[in-house]
Amino acid sequence: MPSYDVIIIGGGVIGSAIARELTRYRLSVGVLEKESDVCTQTSGRNTGMLHAGFLYKTGSLKAQCAVEGNLEFDAVAKELDVPFKRTGKLIVGFTEEHRERLLTMIERGKANGVPGMELIDRKRMDEIDPSAGGNFAIYCPTSGILDPFLYTIALAENAVQNGAAYHLYTKVTGHEVLADGTHLLHTDGKGDFTCRWVINSAGLHSAEISEMLGIPGYKIQPVKGEYFVLDKKAGVYAKIPVYPAPTPKNTFDTHATPTVDGNVLVGPNSFNVDDGEDYSVRQVGMDGLQESGARMFKHMKRDYYIRTFAGARPKRVDPETGEIQDFLIERRDEVPGVINLVGIESPGLTSALPIARRVVKLLEEKESLTPNPSFNPVRRGIRRFHGLSAEEQAELIRENPDYGEIVCRCETVTRAEIIAAIHNPLGVCTVNGIKVRTRASMGRCQGGYCETRITALIREELGKAVPDVRLGSGDSYMFTGYVREGEQA
Ligand SMILES: Cc1cc2nc3c(=O)[nH]c(=O)nc-3n(C[C@H](O)[C@H](O)[C@H](O)COP(=O)(O)OP(=O)(O)OC[C@H]3O[C@@H](n4cnc5c(N)ncnc54)[C@H](O)[C@@H]3O)c2cc1C
Repeated sequence: MPSYDVIIIGGGVIGSAIARELTRYRLSVGVLEKESDVCTQTSGRNTGMLHAGFLYKTGSLKAQCAVEGNLEFDAVAKELDVPFKRTGKLIVGFTEEHRERLLTMIERGKANGVPGMELIDRKRMDEIDPSAGGNFAIYCPTSGILDPFLYTIALAENAVQNGAAYHLYTKVTGHEVLADGTHLLHTDGKGDFTCRWVINSAGLHSAEISEMLGIPGYKIQPVKGEYFVLDKKAGVYAKIPVYPAPTPKNTFDTHATPTVDGNVLVGPNSFNVDDGEDYSVRQVGMDGLQESGARMFKHMKRDYYIRTFAGARPKRVDPETGEIQDFLIERRDEVPGVINLVGIESPGLTSALPIARRVVKLLEEKESLTPNPSFNPVRRGIRRFHGLSAEEQAELIRENPDYGEIVCRCETVTRAEIIAAIHNPLGVCTVNGIKVRTRASMGRCQGGYCETRITALIREELGKAVPDVRLGSGDSYMFTGYVREGEQA
């Protein structure tokens, strides 16, 4: 039976940041993740903003972790080799009421330690981004954009490089405490695991797992958000994320955000759902985004839509009043060996490493941790072909001729990158896994051209039978068999 010092339930950005931070010490660390990859749930279904931290109540964990995570991110992105742009952000207003709310927001930002926020007029907005809607705005220089897939993957890969083990397709279904205090975790088809410490970072399921581990009473309200992804043709106009003035409840409505790769995300809207993992989108939602998005981004046109997606924020709410609560990161003496994280909604992506450090601190209160002398915080990603100069591309092709074969034409992704992604350190071998690691099939044609080629490469590189290739999680097999006999060869 696999046994670890620490088992983390949930391998999203939070679980992976915790795994990475724990490998700084001499601890064996296992991550149990029910899906096919680390960024299939909320961590891969968000705006990808590195928030500055001005939205959250002063003194809250959300405010503290966002500001901390924001200010350290240039160094983090360099260490983990993930794309990041400190674009700044505009929060735009149209009315005097909006102006009042923006001024309050600047004050809160100052109190939270967010540097450099200022109210600017339309003339200054035009210098920053003429595509932005609004009559005036807050300019916040510290906000930024990152690739949430690659960031989560990088944290997980760095954890693995430093000794952590990931168990994918491994859903935790039960928990017992043995006579000596060891935790025994039952899983769905992958056997039992034991550990001294168990950490709940199960996102949308964190309240259920909390109860399973002996801490009942929390409630997660999934709040869904739908998005449009716009073509890079629209991306050339989007210089900076543009958000509307906050609502009276201090939340943000639809915004328009450039991505690090040059697309634009328009969304999310926000509505309560029962099933946070139902990622379908509604026509009414998309119609609403078209209208509200156009107020933020003047180039919002239907011609630019290339796909839609949705995610759900795991909001911790007061079970009686429904009031939204802060992040919860706790350890209780009466429930030994458990660290519990509930309600890690936005700004969870920004806050992942600060949250992870708080988890390590809670563990350290109970046992002294010995540093891992071979810990290496540096991780290198797959070398991208797209965006290099002609000389650099030629040099890469000389080094590895597989860089000379383009597999995804829309995003200029080469055979070399696909092969590197297929042999990723986490052992993810789905078509979606290759997509998020390379961007193959993320372009205008959405895989119409390259998906079959990627499938063939997975089969060739891993020796898989075609019917065993999956798109993503669950039973998402792409083929039912072979058309002609003998084709297996
Ligand atoms: C619409 C939207 C926009 C957002 N925008 C931003 C943003 O711009 N910036 C920002 O900072 N934050 C943003 N966030 C918040 C951020 O995405 C989340 O806070 C963060 O991704 C949470 O990470 P996680 O690892 O806790 O959750 P997840 O990624 O959901 O990971 C939890 C994992 O636990 C696994 N799991 C659950 N139950 C079990 C089980 N029983 N056994 C094994 N595994 C299990 C799940 O499969 C999942 O992979 C946004 C969120 C949403 C929904």
